[in-house]
Amino acid sequence: MIEWVVLLFYIFNQSLILSFDYMTTPPKIWLSSPHMSGRELPYVQEAFTGNWIAPLGPNVDAFERELCAVTGAAHTAALSSGTAALHLALVMLDVGPGDIVLCQTFTFSASANPILYQGATPVFIDSEADTWNLCPEALEEALRYYATRGKRPKAVIGVHLYGMPAKMEEILAICACYGVPFVEDAAEALGATYRGQGAGTFGRISVLSFNGNKIITTSGGGALLSAEESLVKKARFLATQARDTAPHYEHSQIGYNYRMSNVCAGIGRGQLEVLAERVAQRRANFEYYQQELSGLPGLAFQPEAAGSFSNRWLTGILIDPTQAHGISREAVRLALEKENIEARPLWKPMHLQPVFAGAPYFGESVAAELFANGLCLPSGSNLSPEDLARVTTAIRQVLK
Ligand SMILES: *Cc1c(COP(=O)(O)O)cnc(C)c1O
Repeated sequence: MIEWVVLLFYIFNQSLILSFDYMTTPPKIWLSSPHMSGRELPYVQEAFTGNWIAPLGPNVDAFERELCAVTGAAHTAALSSGTAALHLALVMLDVGPGDIVLCQTFTFSASANPILYQGATPVFIDSEADTWNLCPEALEEALRYYATRGKRPKAVIGVHLYGMPAKMEEILAICACYGVPFVEDAAEALGATYRGQGAGTFGRISVLSFNGNKIITTSGGGALLSAEESLVKKARFLATQARDTAPHYEHSQIGYNYRMSNVCAGIGRGQLEVLAERVAQRRANFEYYQQELSGLPGLAFQPEAAGSFSNRWLTGILIDPTQAHGISREAVRLALEKENIEARPLWKPMHLQPVFAGAPYFGESVAAELFANGLCLPSGSNLSPEDLARVTTAIRQVLK
């Protein structure tokens, strides 16, 4: 009898605790989560019906054509990831041991890692405050430094962070002047434009990503784009184990297994149909945040230069603690975390990462300051008005 009483009391108690937890923890708001449209499944079904469950097939071919149409690129190879595309870009530019590659410091590590895959030396370049991307002055300083020492870097890797186009006119002019090819890491920028021209068409080789957190996703995937057909053909060749034409398996080069699955390409085709909507939704998130939060002391947003159209993949803000009554971006991040809202500091610059310690660096402290004061707010295209209001309410409570 007494056992029953104890047991019932225990169950009652547990359910109280559970329902209390349930009542006090609001649902999680993610930084940027996958957002399916419902148009993906018919293409995936087609892959199953035709038994094209392989890293090639009709969805891959069609996805490549559709990517060309959307970006304005002449040629595209669909690959297993954006990182794979960056790696193949450096392979095709003949980057190897002893070579130097210049890279934007303020970025995700995947922009720089392929330099190390090739055994080359990364040299990191600061950002400028107008777009948060590659600083033309620091880039030129680095190119001049190596030119006077008789050394020509094999490539310059630049990024359009959070979907914001870099200063392409200045950057491309400097690269052309020193005869160094520009590799465009447009992983975050599908749907963005610079003076009307699509992101992904500015590099000698350009790269897109369709990772789960990007503006559209194939669950995981990427693409390599170029105006030069020979480069894209070469990328497809290298991405399928570099098989020479022969009845047996003949290889005269080292290959990779980097092609996109036909099933994933089906997801991508459905996602691409709603890209314009996704860009509009993300830009609306940004506008809501700006409307609700501008005017708070010490708070600023990633600017958008005239002639640039960002996809606003992530909304980035800066909190200057000297103006915000000592409130830091970390205090804001922790306040959001307490409300079960995911926010992240802006990218930690590569020249400050332990793994790249000792790498040469050109510029000042723009990237370091962006990292110190910057925060990405939840930016998914599937956020509800209530989600967005929860974010701004929580921020207003700390940054009064
Ligand atoms: C996501 C990302 C990549 C890597 O793309 P994956 O498809 O995840 O390999 C490269 N560069 C930048 C700037 C990115 O944001």
